Amino acid sequence: MRLENCIFCKIANKEIGSEIVDERPTAIAFKDINPKAPVHILIIPKEHVVSLDELGKNGCDVLRDVFSLISDIAVSEGVAQSGYRVVVNIGEEAGQEVDHLHFHLLGGRFMAWPPS
Ligand code: 5GP
Ligand code: ZN
Repeated sequence: MRLENCIFCKIANKEIGSEIVDERPTAIAFKDINPKAPVHILIIPKEHVVSLDELGKNGCDVLRDVFSLISDIAVSEGVAQSGYRVVVNIGEEAGQEVDHLHFHLLGGRFMAWPPS
């Protein structure tokens, strides 16, 4: 389902522009508009899903496509060997700004732990 006024639904439907990196039947990857690392790609379900616990009956397909994209993009972006981080912010205190589930793939620099 596509949610009206959801920026990531519009990106997934190619109604607004983004730098698409790759896609699968149920998921799509594109460059973050405000990158926090040299490599910063967002991987999202094409269907509107707010958070991980709302994936529903197609959750297995979506997660298979999301993690297939993540591992392939880590190779194509050159961070598979050096290391990279996958982050999902869920809810206000975690800093989720867009209410359409998205996985951040971050790499290309050293990262602090724990995240602030
Ligand atoms: P959150 O804080 O919700 O975990 O992450 C949302 C991310 O989406 C941010 O890193 C932000 O830069 C990115 N973002 C927000 N709007 C757009 C957009 O219109 N296009 C793209 N490519 N990224 C966006
Ligand atoms: Zn959406």
